[in-house]
Amino acid sequence: MGKSTKNNEENFESQQEPDLLEGSGFKRQSSHGDECDDYLENENNDFEGVGLCDQLPRPWGNSTKWRAAGSLRTLFQQVNSLAAGRNKIKDGTIGDLAHQQRSSDHNPWVLDKDSHMGIVTAVDITHDPANGCDCNILAKSLQENKDKRIKYVIWNKQIMSSTVSPWTWRPYTGANPHNKHLHISVGCERSVCDLNDNWKIKISESNV
Ligand SMILES: [Zn+2]
Repeated sequence: MGKSTKNNEENFESQQEPDLLEGSGFKRQSSHGDECDDYLENENNDFEGVGLCDQLPRPWGNSTKWRAAGSLRTLFQQVNSLAAGRNKIKDGTIGDLAHQQRSSDHNPWVLDKDSHMGIVTAVDITHDPANGCDCNILAKSLQENKDKRIKYVIWNKQIMSSTVSPWTWRPYTGANPHNKHLHISVGCERSVCDLNDNWKIKISESNV
């Protein structure tokens, strides 16, 4: 005891993201995670993607089993490999209790029919340019490579969707400016969200 929150934040290098990839319940796994208010409505005012995929029936609760989409596991592995000493303080997958009340890809709303778990189809990646993970560079590479798994990306008050004005940055006016973490949502179809191919990403000018 006796450590202040500030000290804990400064000691980020000793912190691994605990149970970001699988778990139960709705506690935000990153103790300092942002309230990521990802939100994208389509022209019909529906949350993008709902209706396309099998859904984990509500109500959800603290015994609800979930896992991160396979494609996002791969993404985390690549980012961790490219920037081994990066700050993970804003990393996240599963949302908190508040997320359950709204449409969010941080909810485990996609059903894995094989395991009967819910699949979380969004991740937040911490912006830490000093330690090799620059979300400005990541955002640019995601725009350039147009990976078919992406549903939308939110970064620094802008949103880029693969379906709405595809691959162009538009203003994002959610409460969270997303300037400390980059949000990526992937499509809800299993063939998309669980596609484990390596991503073509760049997170630092030194990446080739
Ligand atoms: Zn997010």
